[in-house]
Amino acid sequence: MILVGPPGAGKGTQASRLVATYNIPHISSGDMLRAAVKEGTKLGVEADGYMKAGKLVPDEVVIGMILERVAKDDCKNGFMLDGFPRTRPQAQALDQALTKAGVALDAVVLIEVPDSLLIERAVGRRSDPETGTIYHLTYNPPPAEIVGRLVHRKDDTEEAVKVRTEKYHSETAPIIPFYMEKGILRRVDGVGNPDDITQRITAVLNDV
Ligand code: AMP
Repeated sequence: MILVGPPGAGKGTQASRLVATYNIPHISSGDMLRAAVKEGTKLGVEADGYMKAGKLVPDEVVIGMILERVAKDDCKNGFMLDGFPRTRPQAQALDQALTKAGVALDAVVLIEVPDSLLIERAVGRRSDPETGTIYHLTYNPPPAEIVGRLVHRKDDTEEAVKVRTEKYHSETAPIIPFYMEKGILRRVDGVGNPDDITQRITAVLNDV
């Protein structure tokens, strides 16, 4: 399955919870790219500038990375994609690869959050490098003893979030009709506390 939504919709938070329930790998293109940047690989060096500016990394770079990942053995019983596909060519490349492999997507969950909430969500977002847990300083506050080690993403600035939101509307939103036509798109209201949203997604997935 796939989680889609604007930056700060809660895809990462929800994906971490859902993969624990369904026991499938969480494949986050953003996490994979950040790891590549940190390691200084060729891919990371190429992606870094785009990511800092909130722009999309070119399709050919991301498509190769994800298709390689979903072909791995641990994806045989399913997988959750978070942050991919983000463009129509990415959705088409994934579709072709999955069709060839005889794999059908069960659901594409669209987490809907109005633009007016996205900047505040991203600017207050912090993640724990030790556990991967994502917090929000106001809405999902971290325990005091770990605050010192939390990380604020370089692209979670107001400026970068504006660019990312624009890219979401111009590049990513066009994949929604693609999955609607296939009859697998499920819309979920992403406003509220994370537990309620997990319940909404789980309810939708139980019907699939
Ligand atoms: P995320 O963690 O999903 O918000 O992704 C962080 C950044 O990584 C994005 O703003 C893009 O620069 C890049 N990125 C992640 N996934 C993709 C993708 N599917 N296509 C292009 N760029 C991506």
